[in-house]
Amino acid sequence: RIPVICIDGPTASGKGTVAAAVAQRLGYRFLDSGAMYRITALAALRAGLAIDATHESRIADMAKTLPVHFEGGRVLLGQDDVTEAIRTEEAGMNASRVSALPAVREALVDLQHSFRRLPGLVADGRDMGTVIFPGAPLKVYLTASAACRAERRYKQLISKGFSANIADLRADLEARDARDSSRSVAPLKPAQDALVLDNSDLTIDEAVEKVLAWWQE
Ligand code: C5P
Repeated sequence: RIPVICIDGPTASGKGTVAAAVAQRLGYRFLDSGAMYRITALAALRAGLAIDATHESRIADMAKTLPVHFEGGRVLLGQDDVTEAIRTEEAGMNASRVSALPAVREALVDLQHSFRRLPGLVADGRDMGTVIFPGAPLKVYLTASAACRAERRYKQLISKGFSANIADLRADLEARDARDSSRSVAPLKPAQDALVLDNSDLTIDEAVEKVLAWWQE
């Protein structure tokens, strides 16, 4: 059985950074499942489809055949490099809206499973441990206080040259978490057998070491 480590948690909890670092340390593949929802939302909007239940089946059809490629840190949609376009706050909010549509979630299952290849996988998302890889031997629920997550997101955006405001970012991420936690399918919550790691007061390296220590247990 090909090993999978799931790292789930709320917005800007550090999951992406920690999951990518753990994958690198172990030589495992890395699945950024949030990127799939971000790309689906972008593709829908580019096709002129509003993100709502009326367009659910059409968006799900698009998601099934998404021409997405991950190449050396770049994300391609067809010939288009969408690496930056999917990282804005607005793209995150649109991803959250598209991810609440059950048919869209279903449409992305096979694509996510296809990342499980030798020698192993580290999967980052909201429902990796609860829905996509329920039998995974290690599930981590990585969280941090809202204040801390807003500040990290602020620093990340500023370093990329975007302008940002901490209070707005905090309101946005709390709105996104509220939607992600209350939706009917695959709501954001720790898997029953998840180990919860609050990294508010940890460095990235400390969080990575903690996950690796759990993996080696
Ligand atoms: O992790 P990221 O911020 O890129 O995810 C964007 C949005 O996609 C999340 O707010 C969530 O609504 C959705 N998502 C999801 N399930 C996942 C990953 C992301 O519903 N496994």
